[in-house]
Amino acid sequence: MKQDCVFCKIVAGEIPSSKVYEDKKSLAFLDISPINKGHTLLIPKEHYEDMFSLPDDKLKELSAVLKKVSKAVIKGVKADGLNIGMNNKSAAGQIVFHAHFHLIPRYKNDGLKSWPQDKYENTDEMNKYKEMVAKSF
Ligand code: 5GP
Ligand code: ZN
Repeated sequence: MKQDCVFCKIVAGEIPSSKVYEDKKSLAFLDISPINKGHTLLIPKEHYEDMFSLPDDKLKELSAVLKKVSKAVIKGVKADGLNIGMNNKSAAGQIVFHAHFHLIPRYKNDGLKSWPQDKYENTDEMNKYKEMVAKSF
């Protein structure tokens, strides 16, 4: 447990939360400021800052739980769809530095806009970006 971590405090029961699912290694609870009602956060109980510090085997275990909780959220709030998101690092909007998935129920015509999309100048530029990523493994 990390002393100043709000999600570790939720795991420890020091801060109340609206739990929807719990097992030995993971916990899911409602986000206090939902994008849509039923917006759920899924976390590993152990403290890892973000996806990159979460070991592969634990990420794999958590992803099976992610699917299970996702189905329950959709069924429970009668959603038409679900966005799964994970903010990694502050530049990506991460505020709580305890790895977590956002499970956001979506409805037809819920008015939530998707992210703005950019355009590549041409195929050369697109190839350049493809190479930058492909070379980085
Ligand atoms: P992030 O931007 O780090 O991906 O998202 C953190 C999320 O945690 C936010 O959506 C925020 O509403 C939620 N959150 C922050 N503090 C608490 C809390 O004490 N309880 C609950 N249930 N959610 C929280
Ligand atoms: Zn933590």
